[in-house]
Amino acid sequence: MKKIGFMAVFLFVFLLAFPHNGQAAAGGAKIYLDDKELNLSGNAKVENVNGNIMIPFRVVGENLGFNVAWEEKTRTVTIQKDSTVMKLVVDQKTADVNGKKVSMDIAPILRTDTVIVPLRFVSEEMGLTVDWDNTKKIVYLYTQDYGIGNSNNGAGAGSGNQTNPGSNATAEVSGISFQDNQLMIATTGQVKADSFKMTGPDRIVIDLQNAEFSNTFSNNSPLDQHFTGSLDISGYPDVSKIRYSLYNDNPSTIRVVIDLTHAKNYKLTNNNGLYIVDLNTSDSSTPANPGGGSGKKTVVIDAGHGAKDPGTTGITGKKEKDFNLALVLKVGDILKQDPNLNVVLTRSDDTFLELKDRAKIANDLKADAFVSIHANSAGSSAASGTETYYQRDASKEFANVMHKHLVQAAGLSDRGVRYGNFHVIRETKMPAVLLEVGYLSNKNDEAALFSESFQQRVAQGIADGIKEYLGVE
Ligand SMILES: [Zn+2]
Repeated sequence: MKKIGFMAVFLFVFLLAFPHNGQAAAGGAKIYLDDKELNLSGNAKVENVNGNIMIPFRVVGENLGFNVAWEEKTRTVTIQKDSTVMKLVVDQKTADVNGKKVSMDIAPILRTDTVIVPLRFVSEEMGLTVDWDNTKKIVYLYTQDYGIGNSNNGAGAGSGNQTNPGSNATAEVSGISFQDNQLMIATTGQVKADSFKMTGPDRIVIDLQNAEFSNTFSNNSPLDQHFTGSLDISGYPDVSKIRYSLYNDNPSTIRVVIDLTHAKNYKLTNNNGLYIVDLNTSDSSTPANPGGGSGKKTVVIDAGHGAKDPGTTGITGKKEKDFNLALVLKVGDILKQDPNLNVVLTRSDDTFLELKDRAKIANDLKADAFVSIHANSAGSSAASGTETYYQRDASKEFANVMHKHLVQAAGLSDRGVRYGNFHVIRETKMPAVLLEVGYLSNKNDEAALFSESFQQRVAQGIADGIKEYLGVE
């Protein structure tokens, strides 16, 4: 599992620490491969192209033991090692990897006698973990054999991976959130949940036995070194605070406490490991038996990028992350009105999440559908329109349904349903799509994407597509 994990780490985001102001040589940046500096001779340079780090393909390929060939006539770079063959064509955003089409954020560029390619492509397709030291201007590449787990891979979420001490847990709590007067606790594995009320002050206690905090928990919810944390709740008259802690070591038990402003009934349900404590209940019966299951469908909506990762930057300087979030919040608001849906957002504010954690949220919840929302950009300001991406065959039908609604709602040109090898739609296990609503590099698209009425219309279209696919009304 660990090995696969390394393969799947695509930490493109902190590479965006470069300024997003068009093309710039990245200040004589260096490349280290497994801590050995690569010799960047002649014109081979690391560059920042519209916020994408581009690195010379040949030097990296050769140092990884690939044969690198250049065909002048077709402007194609072919690299090969064992049974792996990759073909990239200058100025074309689609590469061929072992006969499969792979989309790149930005096309390879020919610089005098060297071709530069997006670092993200190199990391994803060559299975490298990448890291960027913004102070020293060094790109670090690590092969999966190098043992990245022990290296200085510290530029990630800024929250150390914690492992609970001497744990005998068989289950994990991967996230806690509170919205719509409901506490949601995402778990994996065999959890035994107990809940009860306490008074003086009034509170609801949920004990999750055999559980520990997952090592990604602290990426989304605060957790200190003593394995305790809390969420301040505002805007809900019944609740003042949510607290949680590793309450007991043996058996490993996580206790979650809802601090109430007055005594309150609740209902605890278990939807495939997503425990929901619903305070929107007035009946006086005892809590439902966890394990009952509500039969609701769960949909995870992912606003691309966030915080230090702005995504692409529009032609007038607007940031993709802000568009993604605004649209996702609107989609969430619409879907939450549907009693047949559990709606979970990977982020509901300007926070940073790694790609693997976005997929993990959906996988841990055993969600029924996953939608990642993005905006596109291209080297040419003429490119415009809407694309829907799928990666696995199981997502194709979902992609078709979503695209139909999305194109109709957006009213931009229809660029079709496409295959795209994006992490979040590849590593999720349920039908998953990535929507590129429009091009921020295009003046008209950018204006539309940041208009309130457009967002509202598109949010409705996306919600309609999700409901049609999941068969809920
Ligand atoms: Zn994006």
